[in-house]
Amino acid sequence: MTNDTATQQVWFLTGSQDLYGEDTLAQVARQSQDVAKILGAASEVPVEIVWKPVLKDSAAIRAAALEANQDDRCIGLIAWMHTFSPAKMWIRGLTALQKPLLHLHTQANVELPWATIDMDFMNLNQAAHGDREFAYIQSRIGMERTTVVGHVSDPRVTSRVGTWARAAAANTASRSLRLARFGDTMRNVADTEGDKTEAEVRFGISVNSWSVNELVERVDGVGGSELDLLVKEYEESYDVVPELRHGGERHTSLRYAAQQELGLRSFLEEGGFTAFTTNFEDLGGLRQLPGVAVQRLMASGYGFGAEGDWKTAALVRLAKVMGAGAPGGASLMEDYSYDLTPGSELILGAHMLEVCPSLTTSRPKLEIHPLGIGAREDPVRLVFDADPGPAVVVGMTDMRDRFRLTANVVEIVRPPQPLPKLPVARAVWRPQPDFATAVQAWLTAGSTHHTVMTTAVGIEAFEDLAQMLGSELLVIDDATTTREFAQTLRWNAAYYRLADGL
Ligand code: MN
Repeated sequence: MTNDTATQQVWFLTGSQDLYGEDTLAQVARQSQDVAKILGAASEVPVEIVWKPVLKDSAAIRAAALEANQDDRCIGLIAWMHTFSPAKMWIRGLTALQKPLLHLHTQANVELPWATIDMDFMNLNQAAHGDREFAYIQSRIGMERTTVVGHVSDPRVTSRVGTWARAAAANTASRSLRLARFGDTMRNVADTEGDKTEAEVRFGISVNSWSVNELVERVDGVGGSELDLLVKEYEESYDVVPELRHGGERHTSLRYAAQQELGLRSFLEEGGFTAFTTNFEDLGGLRQLPGVAVQRLMASGYGFGAEGDWKTAALVRLAKVMGAGAPGGASLMEDYSYDLTPGSELILGAHMLEVCPSLTTSRPKLEIHPLGIGAREDPVRLVFDADPGPAVVVGMTDMRDRFRLTANVVEIVRPPQPLPKLPVARAVWRPQPDFATAVQAWLTAGSTHHTVMTTAVGIEAFEDLAQMLGSELLVIDDATTTREFAQTLRWNAAYYRLADGL
């Protein structure tokens, strides 16, 4: 799939007023162009930053907001009050704005020119109070936004803006996300269920089902050179076990797995889908539970959820969009088993088959093993360990009156010992702040057994995204205590009911 951020824009708005005269306004324009240019050139910022002429009155501000709303290239706005921009001028524009907003609180100079500073300099460089006036009106009208403070030469500032832009790209992806389900949710499972209509109302995510036999027809129809090429690609890209290789006794299983990938890929491409689910209870005429096919589709940027879990499929897709072009990856993950050795507790996560190889820089093995679940032929799957390093796991639950995101900041570690008998891809991690606190918080929140695990973006990206989507987000990290977390759950229960109104 293409990387959308290459063509996406964030518009840079500068606030001022007519009071200052032509010369000062010309300087405001030049200096704000410089700020926009530095942001646009920063490697951490994945989108184009488009500078817009300095805004000096209510009509121009409203026109800029309406233009941003209707331009599909624009995924969000950055606003900076270089001088004083009386904020009642911003009410009509901000109340009409439907795109995410970042309030950049910066100024043109790093150091104050102590020896030469005069009132002209002060009048030109007064964001310190211009941005306070702007912040007041945003808070007064209940404007959700991200506020970033600092000089643009500070990498923390460009990095923070870049993270927000990644979240804005995911917000845009969410608003047009089409998700295909093959079959329904696994029977009797609760936490993978949810209100699909409400997901479209709140997040723009369109979730619909197709008969698995439509997929079967496509898979069965795959063949010829297209199939030969993909099988060759498997043999070149992975350490393929001999029985699956050309001439091996189970080579037909490998070819069938490749047929599944091509059939799924063409179905998703033709339907404009960017996420999908399968269900091992409803495989129709599929001869294997799709393993390597699903793993490679995730690596191409598709969201995926197993057992009909469309909420996690959507999260995987949004994490893919946020992490596009950054090192690391994102995958469906499932908390499976623990190492409860006191003081060095670890979580072992995996799935029956479907963990995305974007979580590793090593060369996966391509293997075939029996799998009782699904009652089909043995499935072909990639096997690897996720790379050690920082990661975030995020789950989405339907709490009836809202969707809840729960995120845990974790550290993926090397498995303490090899896992020679475990024939699936996996990750081993240590949660923040510690095992017992993290898991107690996760359980107290009633959060999911499926998650997205991402190593490409951090918790701030999810904080920005949750804000843009208007979703609850519970964060479990080094600052979490069980007492405060339980209190947050109570506050949130009240807040989200009140925030929704009657
Ligand atoms: Mn599962």
